Amino acid sequence: MAHVLTLAEEIGCRPAGSPQEAQAARYISGYLLGLGYDILNKGEIPLSDEECITHNVIARRDTGDGAGLLIGAHYDSIALRERSPGGNDNASGVAAMLEMARLCAGADAPCPMYFVAFGGEEMIDGDPDHHHFGSRHFYAHQPEPLAAMISVDMIGVGDRLYLRYLEPAPEPLLQALEAAAQRTGIALARKADPGHSDHEPFARGGIPAVWIQRLDDPAYHSVDDVADHVEPVYLQTVVRLLMDMLGELDRQALDEMAAWSTGWSRTLEFEVR
Ligand SMILES: [Zn+2]
Repeated sequence: MAHVLTLAEEIGCRPAGSPQEAQAARYISGYLLGLGYDILNKGEIPLSDEECITHNVIARRDTGDGAGLLIGAHYDSIALRERSPGGNDNASGVAAMLEMARLCAGADAPCPMYFVAFGGEEMIDGDPDHHHFGSRHFYAHQPEPLAAMISVDMIGVGDRLYLRYLEPAPEPLLQALEAAAQRTGIALARKADPGHSDHEPFARGGIPAVWIQRLDDPAYHSVDDVADHVEPVYLQTVVRLLMDMLGELDRQALDEMAAWSTGWSRTLEFEVR
């Protein structure tokens, strides 16, 4: 919750390209550096206005060989109709990602691990394709193959926890998460999605990708999406779920995920900057 308070209350509304978004990026990279992670500099990502840029904050741990696993969360918030402080959307997801990075910092892992804070996820103007700038840029420039990608976005409000995915369902990844939910007694349901979070470019590129989201949030994209409205125990739930899944993952399970990813590939339907 300290991360949620810093992002949504101290920094506040942090639209793509704004000084507040840059301030959030510095906070996140400072925290990850403090945990001992290398921060990869992936440069500046132009938004539709070429003067405006966003950044991804990418922490990588070189644990093991083969295709890696990415836990990602966007750190910008929307300012289209209202200036939202983005407590649930998506300081909640960033907080869970940072807590996982902390828990994983000294631990073994069966593969290279990425913890990524994506910039510029929200729509920045009236063009419905002007979003997902950070994740699309990461996908287009990814340094090595990924076995799976998990977007943690809006996990702090709502009665039910969902696995969201583009069809066809990335079965090996969904089943690994469902097995973790069973072991930990966490209620979880599937709900297909047209691609409304940072899993979108990865899924379209054929990488097993899932968005973990809680529904519904009555303060969605509004000024009322404040830190106070985030339920701390819901953040803990997602961290427990993902840490349990990680604990059971071995190279064979990761290879099965990676094999699913090479089975087919979509045509990229978005412009990569
Ligand atoms: Zn979001």
